[in-house]
Amino acid sequence: MKYANVSTQIPGTKSKALINEWKKYEADKTGYQAQIAVDHGKGAMLFDVDGNSFIDYTSGVLVTNLGHCHPDLVKAVQEASARMLNVYEYCNEYRTKASKAIVEAAPEHLDKCFFLSTGSEATDSAMRIMKRALNKYEIIIFYGSFHGRILSTASAGGLFKTKKGFGPTTPGIIRAPYPYCYRCPFKSYPDKCGFMCLEFLNEVVSANSTDSLAGVMVEPYLGTAGFIFPPDGYLPSLEKWIRERGILFTLDEVQSSCGRMGYMWAMEREGLTPDIVTVGKGIGSGVPVSVILMRGDVVNKALGEGELGSTYGGNPVSCAAVYAVLEIIKKDKIIENVKKIEKIFKQRLTAFLEKGKYVGDIRGCGLVWGVELVMDKSTKEPDAKLARKLISSCAENGLLIGSVGKFGNVIRIAPPLVINEEQAEESLDILEKCIISL
Ligand code: PMP
Repeated sequence: MKYANVSTQIPGTKSKALINEWKKYEADKTGYQAQIAVDHGKGAMLFDVDGNSFIDYTSGVLVTNLGHCHPDLVKAVQEASARMLNVYEYCNEYRTKASKAIVEAAPEHLDKCFFLSTGSEATDSAMRIMKRALNKYEIIIFYGSFHGRILSTASAGGLFKTKKGFGPTTPGIIRAPYPYCYRCPFKSYPDKCGFMCLEFLNEVVSANSTDSLAGVMVEPYLGTAGFIFPPDGYLPSLEKWIRERGILFTLDEVQSSCGRMGYMWAMEREGLTPDIVTVGKGIGSGVPVSVILMRGDVVNKALGEGELGSTYGGNPVSCAAVYAVLEIIKKDKIIENVKKIEKIFKQRLTAFLEKGKYVGDIRGCGLVWGVELVMDKSTKEPDAKLARKLISSCAENGLLIGSVGKFGNVIRIAPPLVINEEQAEESLDILEKCIISL
């Protein structure tokens, strides 16, 4: 059985009409993407209004981990929304059940949670908690890191394009290099550098700190900067560095948790024990919700009554979704599926390094993989135009991909975690064909 089926030009006539109508009214500020108008989604598939079907490598933006419109999730949201939509901070069954379920699913030391609506709210709150808990104001953030688009998080982050023209940036943020081994800032190699970027952190701190370090916030892999994975052992070494200084450790798992990396939590992969973990995207699998997992002693020291919250944070519908997502992850053995399909992706994608003339680097784990496209493998010059060309040709062949990266040249492979073996093989056939014919 074939899953993908495209029988019109892309965009098809109906898609084109709907896109044109939309762009008349909403500011055209979205990123580059395949020109389709979606009719509906099911599992790992999206269907456009022209009747074409696509295997989806985008999962929204690493959001719909349980597949599009998982029936149990839809039912949970429908039931909750028929009872109460927003009761702000009044206790209700949905919020109670969701908070118990997520704290029980988290490592034992993270004994408290708090619900918000977006990843940016969670990372912003994490920074506030770290500062208050130690009564210090400096936070270490990494080059290339993305912690959200609101002013505080964009300002803190390490990406030029989210900060350009919005300065001056927040004082107290100290930025240090993240291990981007394909383009190592020290021109070294992971097997022989001995984590030079970690060593360099001491230089950065001694040059920039006023001895007021509150903590470190770091992504398990750089998402928006281009799916950049640190070498094994780097994050545990960073945690050791943090512990030696008695400061706090926030791991930003907004996009990397809930099974994406082949573990429920990204921190499990190398046994990290952060004090605060920010969770978003997959925890609602399409319903807007974010969660801060944290040590109770830290948050209690940092914040008082009424100091954490937002209008929609912890609303009954989002909480019903969180509870349903956690149940579905167990019931449908989502992590087991990720581990099974990961093998297919790893084996076939690695072969693209040889087969693809413009494939400079392939990296990933679980069901999050990046393909870095370059003009020439020896110069490594990034090729964002080629990424756009690939997005279009894949869509014409029934596969939806996106691009990310500091240079916009990294193909984002992040299908819903329910993708099956046949869909994985078929989608990789499409990707291979399109990459080879670039
Ligand atoms: N942190 C990380 C690691 C992210 O990937 C994102 C979103 N891409 C955010 C924070 C911000 O999340 P949101 O867009 O929901 O505010």
